[in-house]
Amino acid sequence: MGTYLGGRIDMVKGDITLQDTEAIVNAADNKLLGGGGVDGAIHTAGGPKILEECRRIGGCPTGEARITTGGRLKARYVIHTVGPVYRYGSKVVADLLAAAYRNSLKLASDNGIKRVAFSSISTGIYGYPIEEAAPIAIEAVDDYLDLHDDIELVRFVLFNDRDYTVYGELLGV
Ligand code: ADP
Repeated sequence: MGTYLGGRIDMVKGDITLQDTEAIVNAADNKLLGGGGVDGAIHTAGGPKILEECRRIGGCPTGEARITTGGRLKARYVIHTVGPVYRYGSKVVADLLAAAYRNSLKLASDNGIKRVAFSSISTGIYGYPIEEAAPIAIEAVDDYLDLHDDIELVRFVLFNDRDYTVYGELLGV
């Protein structure tokens, strides 16, 4: 396991649209056309350029990721990943969630991005319980960082107290 806080993994409670990491990761859907939750917040804050680029990309399969610029956001890039809709006890779904984190980081590496902030993929409208999603997210990130030293920082951005507490317990805060 990684060193967590003080190392290359960090967590904050707050709004992902305000993060100043080079890239922020959006919990998008397959169509990449915006929507509710964090996706809507990112498009609202970042402006129409992001949606235009998403349209051109034309969609993204579950577990994969695509990149656009950040429009008016502080972050220079938005990585759009599509998490799975939760299904109780499904290993396939858990693997897809891990893949969403892994493929987002791979895309960051491919684009020379060193600091990435993640929203909590699939734990809103897609119904993944935070207690199940958080360990999958942390392990996927930890495994990636163990094998790739180009990424300097991964920050989990948690939007509410409960999510922040769950991550805090796992990361030993
Ligand atoms: P999904 O469809 O993948 O479940 P949601 O957008 O519904 O995506 O939710 C993902 C997570 O993003 C939820 O934990 C939600 O509380 C959180 N969230 C919503 N708005 C923001 C925001 N502005 N910044 C960070 N996280 C947010």
